[in-house]
Amino acid sequence: MEQLKQAIRERGNVLSNEVLKVDTFLNHQVDVELMSAVGEEFARLYKEEKVTKVLTLESSGIAPSFMAATSLHSPLIFARKKKSLTMDENVYVSKVYSFTKRETNDITVSKNFLSSNDTVLIIDDFLANGQAALGLIDIVKQAGAKVAGLGIVIEKSFQDGRALLEKEGYRVDSLARIHSLENGKVTFVDELVTTHNN
Ligand code: 5GP
Repeated sequence: MEQLKQAIRERGNVLSNEVLKVDTFLNHQVDVELMSAVGEEFARLYKEEKVTKVLTLESSGIAPSFMAATSLHSPLIFARKKKSLTMDENVYVSKVYSFTKRETNDITVSKNFLSSNDTVLIIDDFLANGQAALGLIDIVKQAGAKVAGLGIVIEKSFQDGRALLEKEGYRVDSLARIHSLENGKVTFVDELVTTHNN
């Protein structure tokens, strides 16, 4: 998605060879037009899949998921990272190791909102080693529901997430795929292909 790649190039901040900061348009301040376009692209990719629920992880997954759920006419569920006082024990729970926070947390979704009748599109802001995605998949499985696929805004293709998910048979659609963040520079996977062809 060209518009997204342009935002990453112009407004992203490479923090290290492994971490990209995009708090200018996704992780803190939200570029609502860009995130709407991202959501619409996910909806276009999954329009034939009879998606009944969009599932993401709070908080950064919510913005890109909102328009996807709107266009697919489905509810949006965000898994919670912290147990809320108003949340009862009627929850699906999975453990997720956070790549950026270097800690393991329980993520929870109320059993009221996912059932075996659901076909679920999972959306997240980043795909690194796939732990967040696997936690969300685990919750969908606990509900006996079907995973339609994973919609990822930014995939860091030099990490293991995609390979892990594809090995398990899941469809992965990433709107920007980063080959490398080395030397403070973002290189996309498709730029690499173009360079090789020339
Ligand atoms: P994974 O679970 O695939 O290892 O990592 C994905 C999760 O970690 C995402 O939900 C995202 O919040 C966070 N994450 C991983 N890599 C990055 C990164 O380079 N930048 C930011 N902002 N978040 C990241």
